[in-house]
Amino acid sequence: MTKRPQPKCPICEKPVGLRPENQSFPFCSVRCKQQDLGKWLGGDYSVAGRPASPHEIADELRRGGGDN
Ligand SMILES: [Zn+2]
Repeated sequence: MTKRPQPKCPICEKPVGLRPENQSFPFCSVRCKQQDLGKWLGGDYSVAGRPASPHEIADELRRGGGDN
């Protein structure tokens, strides 16, 4: 219990340096940051359709429901 738990990179699980030294936080490096981005773009994380916020849905309903 001498030091705080060090955050780990979600990609490679290496210890992550804290800001402001680490510009890529919460990743250990720019490379890992880009890998994470690539996962998203490559559909590695399953996303069913486009995530719509409640606000957007309400807006859509208002628009499609006729306004008279
Ligand atoms: Zn990493």
